[in-house]
Amino acid sequence: MKKIHNYIQGAVAPSSSKRVSPVYNPATGEQIAEVVLSTDADLQKAVDAAKAALPAWMSMSPLKRSRLMNRLLYLLEQNAGELASIISEEHGKVHSDALGEVTRGIEVVEFACGAPHLLKGEFTENIATNIDSHSVRQPLGIVAGVTPFNFPAMVPMWMFPVALACGNAFILKPSERDPSASLFYADLIKQAGFPDGVFSVIQGDKNSVDAILKHPDISAISFVGSTPIAKYIYETGAHYGKRVQALGGAKNHMIVMPDADMDKTVDALMGAAYGSAGERCMAISVVVPVGEATAETLRKKLVERLATLKIGPGTDNQAEMGPLVTATHLEKVAGYINAGVSEGAELVVDGRDFKMQQAGFENGFYIGGTFFDHVSRDMSIYKEEIFGPVLCMIRAESFDDAVRMINEHEFGNGTAIFTRDGDSARSFANQIQVGMVGINVPIPVPMAFHSFGGWKASLFGDHHMHGPEGVRFYTKLKTITSRWPTGIRSGADFVMPTME
Ligand code: NAD
Repeated sequence: MKKIHNYIQGAVAPSSSKRVSPVYNPATGEQIAEVVLSTDADLQKAVDAAKAALPAWMSMSPLKRSRLMNRLLYLLEQNAGELASIISEEHGKVHSDALGEVTRGIEVVEFACGAPHLLKGEFTENIATNIDSHSVRQPLGIVAGVTPFNFPAMVPMWMFPVALACGNAFILKPSERDPSASLFYADLIKQAGFPDGVFSVIQGDKNSVDAILKHPDISAISFVGSTPIAKYIYETGAHYGKRVQALGGAKNHMIVMPDADMDKTVDALMGAAYGSAGERCMAISVVVPVGEATAETLRKKLVERLATLKIGPGTDNQAEMGPLVTATHLEKVAGYINAGVSEGAELVVDGRDFKMQQAGFENGFYIGGTFFDHVSRDMSIYKEEIFGPVLCMIRAESFDDAVRMINEHEFGNGTAIFTRDGDSARSFANQIQVGMVGINVPIPVPMAFHSFGGWKASLFGDHHMHGPEGVRFYTKLKTITSRWPTGIRSGADFVMPTME
């Protein structure tokens, strides 16, 4: 059985651990590898490597770090196809979607190439007579990232390019369900010429995460995953005096107004609800048509389109949706569909009926696109994150009802409105209590030079990822006030300094 290891000090590093976790190919259902679940001693090696590299790395000019980042950008572009295949094999998403994820990650590397500009400080001349003040942003030191299974390249790339560009050393703890991508880009980072030790990968589970949380030499943690774990990371990280940004789960609503272009809306909804088998934190899992006529038209068109949804392995170029990540996750999603039925929602399209026919893929973790109508706000399928291809329709009488429903939901990651009316769109953007808002855009993932993050139970901490917020998260502010050279010469001053 292939074994997936750590990456420390610029090389693949076997672990002393006896504990391993299985890695599957979700398209076939077969176990294809096992990943080591690292020990505290493995983490210590990564920390030691980072500590050794940091003095030179922190004091390297941002322009030099930017040149390394440019080389990494080139290597990632050259190897994007191979990286996408690695992702698709362990995650299950179709190859084109995996390539899309890699592209969105590469955009953060492009952003990080601007390190010299991003790290420029501020200067005020003469804050008082002959006294100047300037502020600089300095790296934190060693920072860590703990990432989820659903974007094994993009989510780590929300973090490490910015952390490295700012002069930190970065330790990644990727998801144990699809760990191979991390070793692939670790090798590209090495090839680009980054010093050994500034980027490490520690494979593992809760034990490794807890070791990171408690380690006194790690200054900050970026986390992306489910809400209960995000809350745990935030609270525990804060307890150990770390800076934490912890992004959690989601339940993203899309409002459809009566004036929306229904064909375009249904196309957008299909991709947003069923793309990547619904395993996206920005997937639309609740559609909220306003008015009965809107609901009926939407339902009819959606059911027609769902009948043509092409499900297949990630290697099938025709497939629009692949399998779920593991058999356990498949059971969980099917369990939610059962719950929806017993709670009284109308199961219009039942994905549990789906059987994969393609030879060799019969045992993959597939489920069909599922659609519930007449969902109500007290049902578990509405309140909780399912993280599968299950779309709930909840009918609203008015725009205000729809907005209130979203604002009262526990999560606040992403949302969208489909309308031709500027007034509805503007009011929506203004009133909605959600971090990322789309107007006729179903998955409004901010570009790399803006920042990504939700509100409410979708983010703990106060910094969003990448963009300007990422730079702030990975640096600390120092403000220097200086007087040259005559002040001291005139003798000591015992009065509280004020502006003269
Ligand atoms: P998860 O919370 O199970 O795991 C995330 C990471 O935490 C993994 O690296 C895992 O090893 C680690 N982990 C798991 N249990 C832990 C524990 N008890 N203590 C410490 N660490 C632990 O999430 P997942 O299933 O890998 O990913 C799916 C979730 O991630 C969904 O809820 C999804 O919405 C969320 N997500 C959110 C965003 C966002 O931007 N808000 C983006 C992607 C995914």
